[in-house]
Amino acid sequence: MAAVILDGREISAQIQADLKDEVTNLQSQGVNPCLAVLLVGDNPASHTYVRSKLRVAQSLGIASRDHILAGDTPEEEVLALIRRLNDDPAVHGILVQLPLPESINTARVLGAVAPEKDVDGFHPMNLGRLMMGPTPMPPCTPAGIMEILRRAGVELKGKEAVVVGRSNIVGKPVAFLLLHEHATVTICHSRTRDLPAVCRRAEVLVVAIGRARMVTDEYVRPGAVVIDVGINRENGRLVGDVDFETVRHVAGAITPVPGGVGPMTITMLMKSTLTAAALQSGLKSA
Ligand code: NDP
Repeated sequence: MAAVILDGREISAQIQADLKDEVTNLQSQGVNPCLAVLLVGDNPASHTYVRSKLRVAQSLGIASRDHILAGDTPEEEVLALIRRLNDDPAVHGILVQLPLPESINTARVLGAVAPEKDVDGFHPMNLGRLMMGPTPMPPCTPAGIMEILRRAGVELKGKEAVVVGRSNIVGKPVAFLLLHEHATVTICHSRTRDLPAVCRRAEVLVVAIGRARMVTDEYVRPGAVVIDVGINRENGRLVGDVDFETVRHVAGAITPVPGGVGPMTITMLMKSTLTAAALQSGLKSA
């Protein structure tokens, strides 16, 4: 039996069509949603991500500003720019592209973004709120994963969910989102004993490790829904953390790489920008 392929591009296109209508709706009420993107340094992957984000914003009618700073920009200058964007009522969302250069304290920079403009959901206050319950602007990749599961009709209540990876940007927040949907959640990491056995408990398996094709069919319970967050470059092509070729014969459903979680991340960023604009304009309450 071959797994159902959960097509993130198709789901993204559906959501983006709705977001376009929402932009028109906000504009008709005098609100022009605007996302500011801040990039420090010349990491080629970061430049590609920023270009994609700006392109999608433009295609949806979301105004954007890009602030591309040299890699040796002093931290104080980055913080001063964030303060200006925080105070600018025309800017609704602020995204700091990670990673920042080593000379800059990432926690300090992310903590300087006004929580109501934190469309990436990485401000400590927003991560804390996420622990307590659903939030309007959760981190984008975890939010994209939940949207894939929702649109695929996966019932989470009471289900065994296993998340491999405990980063603050993917593993931990997605674990909380699954918990809020009443799944029974296990979080695994590099010190987990007998990882394949723990993963085989999962009815929903989310893999965010950063190791090419590590999770093979040996890790997967027959019929499980497998979400592959990994983006790894192997011989010039992109592969996930899941070994798609073996796992697709065991899983009930699986996200491909590319074309699974990746496209959802940018789409959810746009959704959060519109949410931020609506909240700041008093058109929505938190
Ligand atoms: P991090 O490197 O921050 O975290 C990786 C996690 O995996 C850590 O918790 C680590 O454990 C765990 N891990 C590493 N090796 C093993 C192992 N052998 N067995 C079990 N656990 C292991 O990565 P991110 O969460 O930032 O990203 C994960 C992947 O997702 C990457 O490939 C990244 O490129 C991709 N990604 C994709 C996005 C998208 O839009 N699709 C967005 C963000 C990330 P420990 O904590 O013990 O070190």
